[in-house]
Amino acid sequence: SLSDRLTSTFKNLRGKGRLTEAQIDGTVREIRRALLDADVAVAVVRAFVAQVKERALGEEVSGSLNPGQQIVKIVNEELVGILGGETRRLNLAKTAPTVIMLAGLQGAGKTTLAGKLAKHLKAQGHTPLLVACDLQRPNAVKQLQVNGERAGVPVYAPHPGVSSEFESATGDPVAVARDGVAEAKSKLHDIVIVDTAGRLGIDTEMMQQAADIRAAVNPDEVLFVIDAMIGQDAVNTAQAFNEGVGVTGVVLTKLDGDARGGAALSVASVTGKPVMYASTGENLDDFEIFHPDRMASRILDMGDVLTLIEQAEANWDKGEAERMAKKFADREDFTLDDFLAQMAQIRKMGSMKKILGMMPGSQISRQQLEQFDESQMDRIEAIVRSMTQHERVAPKIINGSRRARIAKGSGVHVSEVNSMLERFGEAQKMMKKLASGGAIPGMPGGRG
Ligand code: GDP
Ligand code: MG
Repeated sequence: SLSDRLTSTFKNLRGKGRLTEAQIDGTVREIRRALLDADVAVAVVRAFVAQVKERALGEEVSGSLNPGQQIVKIVNEELVGILGGETRRLNLAKTAPTVIMLAGLQGAGKTTLAGKLAKHLKAQGHTPLLVACDLQRPNAVKQLQVNGERAGVPVYAPHPGVSSEFESATGDPVAVARDGVAEAKSKLHDIVIVDTAGRLGIDTEMMQQAADIRAAVNPDEVLFVIDAMIGQDAVNTAQAFNEGVGVTGVVLTKLDGDARGGAALSVASVTGKPVMYASTGENLDDFEIFHPDRMASRILDMGDVLTLIEQAEANWDKGEAERMAKKFADREDFTLDDFLAQMAQIRKMGSMKKILGMMPGSQISRQQLEQFDESQMDRIEAIVRSMTQHERVAPKIINGSRRARIAKGSGVHVSEVNSMLERFGEAQKMMKKLASGGAIPGMPGGRG
């Protein structure tokens, strides 16, 4: 597996400082192979690998990881980012009903998904209406009706009650879509799910029909439904639908099969749209909210490596905290390096605003929270990084000309270096107090 191969690659990777090209190349070669194995489109792999290399080059190896792990971490973060970052929620209309249109090739799993999505939304307290706009296949309307019945959700269809297994529905799908939305308005459904017709391959007539439906009902979401087994064709198909119809989100189906999910990366990277749901079987309950992080480890098949990385980082955090505690106990000086390390620890916990906002009964007002400037932490970090090792340990030596050099190196005004050093001096004093059981130090980066 990739995990095994990477582990042996990592053995040869040692050292601190910045990642080197040689270190990156070995690991990236394995990642490229894993992505191709997972059936990510070749062009997408090429672009992705280039992106990872560019970011990895020159990146500093963190205290907790070896260079190989550091690269895998970058790969994972980039992958999660392309897949949509955090799970995106459905975009609901300001005025009901929210219209969700499904588009994709025949057999992708649209009609099945329509039932799943309806059931899921109903369970959340919505009152969806399904609209049957696939008038091409003889049995399509009936299939949606069956799914609607299973989901306990009504279906708007042409010629209700007349369509049977043996006759093809007739009529104009655009008109049906429009009437379906009107029906939802009059019956006060808050969501409309429009199922459409697909073809076996990309087809101009089908695209035109889907585009016409879109123009007629102005959907809040156009979900592009794609079979995870499609492999290399994912790119062309996604591109065609994105350009021909325009999509807002992606749904990956048949993830219960053997597919490693490479299509997810191909489609997300070609459309720039997040994957929102996953379909994992023929039953209505085989449906999941899509989690980019889980898919990233499925694609790379490197759950083990990621676990190792998490453990290494957790251990490092613990070691770092102990080291700091010992320092205080020994009354050693709190240096700018400590300051930087502490800031990194804080930032790793996520956005400061989020953390401060989450603290129950915190003394921090909403206004103070608004004033908190995350970018200021970036600048402080840049300032410290522009200092020499000697300066970081003995900040007293930082005179006027050194301050000017540091300001230039970090791209800030000298006054900012001055105020940063002043603030650091205060923090240092507070650390001393803390060590003797005194006050709690202020967080770096806070304003006032
Ligand atoms: P449509 O043409 O896009 O509407 O696709 P359908 O919803 O009719 O699905 C085509 C076939 O794929 C049907 O036999 C479904 O039962 C099956 N199918 C749909 N989604 C899934 C899935 O997630 N997993 C599996 N194994 N089969 C699926
Ligand atoms: Mg269908």
